[in-house]
Amino acid sequence: MRQPLENYREIVGDEVIAEIHRKARKLYGKHILHINSTYYGGGVAEILSCLVPLMNDVGVEADWRILHGTPDFFMITKKFHNALQGGEINLTEIKKQLYLQINECFSTFCHINHDCVIIHDPQPLPLIKFYKKRQPWVWRCHVDLSSPNEELWEFLKNFTLRYDVVVVSSEKFKKRDLPVEQRVIHPAIDPLSPKNMEISDRIISKYLKKFRIPLDKPLITQISRFDKWKDPEGVIEVFKLVRKEIDCRLVLCGNMAADDPEGYQIYERVRRKAKRLIEKKDVILITSENNILVNALQRSSAVIIQKSIKEGFGLTVTEALWKGTPVVASNVGGISLQIKDGENGFLVDPYDTRGFADRIISILQNPEIAEKTGKAGKEVVRRNFLITKLLSDYLDLLNDLIE
Ligand code: UDP
Repeated sequence: MRQPLENYREIVGDEVIAEIHRKARKLYGKHILHINSTYYGGGVAEILSCLVPLMNDVGVEADWRILHGTPDFFMITKKFHNALQGGEINLTEIKKQLYLQINECFSTFCHINHDCVIIHDPQPLPLIKFYKKRQPWVWRCHVDLSSPNEELWEFLKNFTLRYDVVVVSSEKFKKRDLPVEQRVIHPAIDPLSPKNMEISDRIISKYLKKFRIPLDKPLITQISRFDKWKDPEGVIEVFKLVRKEIDCRLVLCGNMAADDPEGYQIYERVRRKAKRLIEKKDVILITSENNILVNALQRSSAVIIQKSIKEGFGLTVTEALWKGTPVVASNVGGISLQIKDGENGFLVDPYDTRGFADRIISILQNPEIAEKTGKAGKEVVRRNFLITKLLSDYLDLLNDLIE
């Protein structure tokens, strides 16, 4: 069960709660529609599952619908996702057609008579083309748009131009060549969800035991979909260097998102690469979807690593910072907004395998570092990246857009 807003008082204080109610006042009874393409796996589903109930709790009538994709469609949109983050793509007419067809088909059975529509990510972006537009539409892009494949961007921009506002996660992702209002809203985590709530040591041990993760050595963990941009193979390289100096164990925990068909391929590659280490139980791969397990891992690991090559925001970083666990992460995208190197975590160049390893070794050897950065990490999240802040930012946006 999701928590009502009043349950957040203790964490964020009365001022924040009163301000949210104030901002919601003019929006009572307004119908808002969120559309994305998966209800589980990945950061967008994670955010919507707590944001939407909270919007309803404060009097805004928010719906959440999922675009009905097919395997072919998700294969194509994953290629789009990769190319938007700078990868290559062979942008054929067939791909464009299928992308449009699935959106058009969805529009034939999804009636929209809301006061505002919020479209998340590129999968449902063209939907706007298939409706008689009667309300403001927002494109909420969670992807790092700083260096997209130009041909693809030109194709997608065509739909984007129809939107009232485009929302991105960082100033760096704003597009100069897009003559549409662009705003920055930072993603956020729910401190009361099973993934982030306080849990006892007994629960932590129970879950680690259930997933056969021993605690006889320090754990280094990356929690991320098996995706090339999260660089799980690079994490194995880092781990090999660390393990030469300190006996420890690596956990790679990656569920399979419904809209990410590449997961199994990448998982297999990682499994082959770490075969010997997996046999020795020095590397543990997990593909189950379990929020309490993620919570337990983020609390019991000596270090959380996030070795992304590109990262729209990186909720896994936020989640680990909230738990006061030391984080060593790539200095890219939204991660750089969350960590100040040496103050509340550590930033490393994404391609610097040795740098990652050295940082992790120094944390494992000096636990006092972990304590200092851990406290600061939690405060940064409390101030900037909790769901109450995100709710407040969305209310501002809706107040500006809806008469
Ligand atoms: N996640 C999870 N289990 C996993 C891997 C990831 O629950 O095995 C969650 C993770 O805790 C976070 C979200 O999926 O809440 C990932 O969001 P992030 O912004 O880090 O990356 P994205 O997948 O959206 O690129």
